Amino acid sequence: MKTLKELTRPNIWALKPYSSARDEYNGAAASVFLDANENPYNLPHNRYPDPLQRDLKAELTRIKQVKAENIFLGNGSDEAIDLVFRAFCEPGVDNVVAIDPTYGMYKVCADVNNVEYRKVLLDDAFQFTADALLAATDEHTKLIFLCSPNNPTGNDLLRSEIEKTLAAFSGLVIIDEAYNDFSSAPSFLQQLDKYPNLVVFQTFSKAWGCAAIRLGMAFASAEIISIFNKIKYPYNVNQLTQQQALSMLQRYDEIEGWVKELIAERGRLMDAFSTLTCVKEIFPSDANFFLARVTDASAIYNYLVAKGIIVRNRSSISLCGNCLRVTVGTPAENKTLLEALQVYGN
Ligand SMILES: *Cc1c(COP(=O)(O)O)cnc(C)c1O
Repeated sequence: MKTLKELTRPNIWALKPYSSARDEYNGAAASVFLDANENPYNLPHNRYPDPLQRDLKAELTRIKQVKAENIFLGNGSDEAIDLVFRAFCEPGVDNVVAIDPTYGMYKVCADVNNVEYRKVLLDDAFQFTADALLAATDEHTKLIFLCSPNNPTGNDLLRSEIEKTLAAFSGLVIIDEAYNDFSSAPSFLQQLDKYPNLVVFQTFSKAWGCAAIRLGMAFASAEIISIFNKIKYPYNVNQLTQQQALSMLQRYDEIEGWVKELIAERGRLMDAFSTLTCVKEIFPSDANFFLARVTDASAIYNYLVAKGIIVRNRSSISLCGNCLRVTVGTPAENKTLLEALQVYGN
């Protein structure tokens, strides 16, 4: 790995961050807060939230088995994705490499930040090789994006190839684990000490059932996390979100129950799909959705829309011709979908 200084944009490395009132005084002992121009009325919404979300991170350390200094929390994973570009990629100079197909936000953030986005096509089993990814890199490649389980293909990427990439690449390797809760593969979280160039993304939007509160997590070395903290908006995670996430952490058993139920339902739904005449192929899934190749994706998509059932048409994506991406819903929702497709025929 290059040094973090070599990987970081020079202006970011030199940046002196905004120092908020709550950065300069964050002790609890005081009772009179006249430092932040807040309104003294309308408790509890009148105070700025903790810029570093300490209570929430303290709870997460237990569940994730990582130290608070290795955790960044942001306004969805979207914020973390944008931050890695702004921290490490010099616009018009640096580039990033990603598997293709994968989650669309990486390319959007690359385009917003004027950073070249290099795609490496997956094989027919939606797998990659470290050698092919590394062959696409050059001295200006700062980041490699891997998504496992991958969206929209649904499968885990090969662990041996991920490890080979981490060991061989001189820049940062981002592993987006938004769907890891639904997979039997272990998370890469426990590998942070082994690979200083590893950044893991997770989110409250999927297994946690909290897409509405916008809370994403990034895990990395303390040095990388401190760069994120330096350039993030000062109060990037609002108080309502922090409180809701804390209350979800008290309901962890329930979340585990949802995950178990969704995995079982995924199996039932995929089995039923394999008997439908309009379905040609179902791809294996380690996520809470699966990809299915159908006879005519656009026709079936429109047919379902007319019945008020929305799936995702992924036909225009590499390797996904005539593919629909189906999220696993409640048993009743899945039944509605299946009955509609049975009526559709072929
Ligand atoms: C859904 C999803 C996310 C979550 O994004 P948030 O901004 O946290 O809601 C991240 N990565 C992938 C690949 C996803 O599919």
